Amino acid sequence: MNDYELASSWIKSADNIVVVPHYNADGDAVGSSLGMYLLLQNIGKNVKVVYPNDFPSFLKWMKGADEIIIAEKDIQIAELTIAGADLIIMTDFNSLGRIDLLGNPVSKSKARKIVIDHHPNPDDFADLLFSDTSVSSAAELVFQFIGKVGLKHAVDKFVAECIFTGIMTDTGSFSFNSSRPETYQIVSELLGFGINKDEIYSQVFDNYSENRFRLLGYCLNNKMNVLPAFSTGYISISKKELEQFNFEPGDTEGFVNYPLSIKGIVFSAIFIEKEDHIKISFRSKGDFAVNDFARNYFNGGGHHNASAGKSELGMEETIIKFHELLMKHSDSLSKK
Ligand code: 5GP
Ligand code: MN
Repeated sequence: MNDYELASSWIKSADNIVVVPHYNADGDAVGSSLGMYLLLQNIGKNVKVVYPNDFPSFLKWMKGADEIIIAEKDIQIAELTIAGADLIIMTDFNSLGRIDLLGNPVSKSKARKIVIDHHPNPDDFADLLFSDTSVSSAAELVFQFIGKVGLKHAVDKFVAECIFTGIMTDTGSFSFNSSRPETYQIVSELLGFGINKDEIYSQVFDNYSENRFRLLGYCLNNKMNVLPAFSTGYISISKKELEQFNFEPGDTEGFVNYPLSIKGIVFSAIFIEKEDHIKISFRSKGDFAVNDFARNYFNGGGHHNASAGKSELGMEETIIKFHELLMKHSDSLSKK
């Protein structure tokens, strides 16, 4: 029996399935998890979806979004749901640390565990791991998985919308991670299910609050530092500033990409002050490996060109540390 046959038999025999994506779910985490959730509903499975924390409102239009159990809001229900599962399917993450307060309940659970993910260097926390770093997104991999376990017949327009959203958001609307022909073959198939891709784009990208736009303007005008000598640009933002703009989850999503649109900039970062740490996102163009950078210096990780980590230092000290690291890496940055 190959791994797909095994996964297929586990799905068939499971009575209670739970789907889990990573903390601070983005478009791919939501698309891959809800796509799997809706598909399993379509074949008559008893399935629940549990998220570690809340997710941006511009992703809440997807079918099933209002059925998601949010652990940070209701930890008891989340833990009971996970404890009652005999199969847990996890999407878009490679280590239990990425599901925050669900890490414990998931690792304690006796359920069979399947992971479908596209991040490098996955930890060993699943019984079956479907990992491919060459795909655009976890959603693309979920769609491949659906085909390989023989469930394509259960895909409908709503599942297709979720998968498309994951691919679209994780590729920056097909501007990166999207050079494989297979990605477009899948998109072509998804369109065949009657999805309206223009409307999906609009739901995700033209659905921001006025506050979010004002905050973006403020960040670009007042809080962005461009260091041409290091081909680097970064933004920093304090909790107080976020409060001034009535920050809501997801409002800073995508901000980190803006410095990369400046000519000559290949490395960008955003420093966001949270309750007890600074959350840092990194993006790059080309060779500079931001997953190594995040892993080596900021207790994080991710993809070659998109990663994140955190700092327990204050904002000022974190930025001093960042400047020192730029000096240290100036050879690979200034040559660009
Ligand atoms: P974002 O900047 O969108 O929060 O994260 C970018 C990428 O970095 C994510 O797709 C994920 O791969 C990775 N990532 C984000 N947060 C963490 C983290 O705390 N630890 C690790 N290892 N990777 C992270
Ligand atoms: Mn992803």
